Amino acid sequence: MERTLVLIKPDAFKRGLVGEIISRFERVGLTLEGMKILNATIEMVEKHYPDDKNWIRSVGKKTIDTYEKYNLNIIEDLGTNDALKIGQLVRKWLIQHLTSGPVLVLILSGNHAVEMVRKIVGNTVPLFAELGTIRGDFSIDSPDLSAREKRVLQNLVHASETVEEAKREISLWFANYS
Ligand code: ADP
Repeated sequence: MERTLVLIKPDAFKRGLVGEIISRFERVGLTLEGMKILNATIEMVEKHYPDDKNWIRSVGKKTIDTYEKYNLNIIEDLGTNDALKIGQLVRKWLIQHLTSGPVLVLILSGNHAVEMVRKIVGNTVPLFAELGTIRGDFSIDSPDLSAREKRVLQNLVHASETVEEAKREISLWFANYS
């Protein structure tokens, strides 16, 4: 049995979607093993999203790719087309968002739970997420809109990407969980 970590983000609370999101994980057969609601500190969010240049660049690239796809002017909106600089801006917005309201932290377990939960959650960018996924069904956001509004993508949830990441994140958010 595999375990994974999910964060239900403040935008899900604002939209009243917390129960709906939990039920999507439960109905597929995943087991809810741990759950706590908290107001995340900047330090916790910084540990959760470490200052890793490769990841930061990949985040910035999502904005650049979206601007290219729709033929929009990134310099006009952000003053740069450098993936690292844009990624750093996004990380700052992400920390602001995750500390702006309550977060619900879940541990889910089950057969290939990491992969299954990522599938249920859908693509990072709600505009590109398949219908039937949480992000695809409940959000219409895109990196160009969020960049123009100087905020992070509102995509409702975080889910660990790999088994190793899940282990690290579970021990970060549930210090005494074994
Ligand atoms: P995921 O949450 O799907 O694992 P990432 O780890 O790449 O995605 O990004 C972390 C979070 O940062 C995303 O869930 C999203 O809220 C936000 N984000 C990522 N890329 C961008 C972007 N280009 N513009 C705005 N927000 C972004």
